[in-house]
Formats: sequence, structure tokens, C-alpha cells
Amino acid sequence: MQTQLRQSQKMEAIGQLTGGIAHDFNNILTSILGGLDLLQRRINVGRFDTIERYINSAIKSAKRAAALTQRLLAFSRQQALDVQPININSLIQSLDDLLQRSLGEQIQVATNLSDDVWRVRTDANQLENALLNLAINARDAMPYGGILTISTSNIDAQQANQLQLDPHEYVLIEVIDTGTGMSSEVIERAFDPFFTTKPLGQGTGLGLSMIYGFIKQIGGHIQIESQLEQGTSVKLYLPRDQSGLEHGFAAESAQARSIE
Ligand code: ADP
Repeated sequence: MQTQLRQSQKMEAIGQLTGGIAHDFNNILTSILGGLDLLQRRINVGRFDTIERYINSAIKSAKRAAALTQRLLAFSRQQALDVQPININSLIQSLDDLLQRSLGEQIQVATNLSDDVWRVRTDANQLENALLNLAINARDAMPYGGILTISTSNIDAQQANQLQLDPHEYVLIEVIDTGTGMSSEVIERAFDPFFTTKPLGQGTGLGLSMIYGFIKQIGGHIQIESQLEQGTSVKLYLPRDQSGLEHGFAAESAQARSIE
């Protein structure tokens, strides 16, 4: 609970900060890129090959930084969500091909979907992005291959309470891998924006923090369970869609009335 509170305060602060910083930073980078580009053209005429190499590398870094600020802007904007009642089993099944292609032949993709899973209220595109992001993280944790399993199940209010979640009904999506696992220090920092253990240029450290922000926005919860050398399970608790329930209840009572 403490960690979640600290995390949401941090997300709020980062959200406010990044909007301003990213905008200014992008302007500066645009001028660096323009200047370097001009310089490069002049040097090209004089054929100063070594200098050109340095300039190329500066352009490359500046472009990378520009791409990062683009992501920061998207991150701080917290796009409005298109929340609809969704059958997540169908959503997961429709991702199957894409997952298999993105993860490569060394990784087996398995699903374990509960037949009677409730509908949830979520943004389908954002949920797909989140699942793809989790799958890519799982792939990175299984460099020599392994199994990625996505499972779904229902969690009633009582079970949620036992798990120290708000006492609502949720649908649980678990993304489980048989990879390297995470140490407790990494788990503690995994949702921090910009925290990454990946080599420079391979990780931005924004994946899990963006997923955290999205899951919180739709009133859900996210948890990581992991054991070194065993693997990781990321659990997404998504709130059950209540609209069908009201309808069902209304239909039931109408029926009861007509029997009377
Ligand atoms: P990135 O993938 O860009 O590093 P993330 O926010 O998605 O950023 O992840 C942060 C860190 O959490 C990763 O660098 C990695 O150390 C750890 N991590 C995330 N998912 C897994 C996983 N499935 N197995 C092992 N470590 C993971």
C-alpha cells in the first residue's frame, strides 16, 4: 500500500514535470540538429572525415533524445481513454499471432483462459499495448527461450479483500514467463519511470510505469511476483464491467414481477 501511494505521487509529479521539460528539450534538440546538419554539409565539401564521424554520432544521439522526448510527451499527456465493456479472452486470442511473431521461435506462447470470465471496462488498444509490452519484457528475460503464458480468471470481492485489494470484483490477467526473474531491488523500482536494467539504447524504463498509469486510470491494480532464475508473473486486476449486471438484475426482477 505504502509503495503504491509513493508510486502514484511520483507518477503525478513526473506527469507534471515531463510536459514542460519535454517541450523545451525538444526545441533545443531541434536547433542542435539544424546546426549539426548545416555544419555537416560544409565539412562534407572540405572532406574532414574524422570530424564528420563525430558529427554523425552527435546527430544520432540527438535523434535518440528527440525520440525519447516524444515518448515523454505522450506519457505526460495521459491520453483520454476509450473505455468500453470488453471480453478479454477474445482480445487475448486475437493477439496470439502477433505475440508468436514478436517473440520468435524460441519462445512458446500458451494461454489458459477461464471460460466464464467476466467482461471488463477498459480501453482495448491500451490493454493490447500493455500486454505486448509485458510480452516483450518477458522475451527479453528469456534470451535462451522459454514459455510465456497468459491466463485469465475471475476474482470476487471477498478474494480481492483477502489479497488486500479494494473489495470489488476484478478479472485477473496473468502474464507469466520462465525467464531470469527479478531481484527484490528490481521489483521495488520496476514501476519507476526511467528505471531500466537493459543496455543503453535497448530500454527506456517507461514500459511498466506506463502500464501502471493506465491500470490505475481504469481503477485496476498491478502486481509483480518474481523469483530469480525461475521467472516472473505480472498480474493485472481489471475492474469487472457492471453495466451488464444492472441489466441482468433489471431483467430478473422484471421476470419475478411478471410471475407474481
Ligand atoms: P524497459 O523494458 O525499457 O527496461 P520497463 O519499465 O518495462 O522498462 O521495465 C523495467 C525493468 O524491469 C526492466 O529493465 C527489467 O529489469 C525489469 N523487468 C521487467 N519485466 C521483466 C520480466 N518479465 N522479467 C525480468 N525482469 C523484468
